[in-house]
Amino acid sequence: MAFNQVARTGSAMPTIQCPRCRSEAYYNYGHTKNGKQRYICLLCNRQFIEAEPDKAVEQRPECPLCGKKMHVYMRDSKFIRFRCSAYPRCRGYVKISQEN
Ligand SMILES: [Zn+2]
Ligand SMILES: [Zn+2]
Repeated sequence: MAFNQVARTGSAMPTIQCPRCRSEAYYNYGHTKNGKQRYICLLCNRQFIEAEPDKAVEQRPECPLCGKKMHVYMRDSKFIRFRCSAYPRCRGYVKISQEN
């Protein structure tokens, strides 16, 4: 019944890109043993599967102040910054370093 409790991140469909050349030109190329769709890049012929969801983003932390799930607020090559989904009512803020 609460209108404001559905938090939308507004993210569109993830774009599939070649992990090597970042091309978005690809063919479907069968499936992996695990049943995942496999693709082949038209530019560099690299075979790839759709990228796994980013684990750090999937496992969104809970706000240290109020316990709500947090949103990705900003990210760069080293850190992902999360902000409380109740912002601006709650100013909870978490920074996670990315290790790849
Ligand atoms: Zn490619
Ligand atoms: Zn909070």
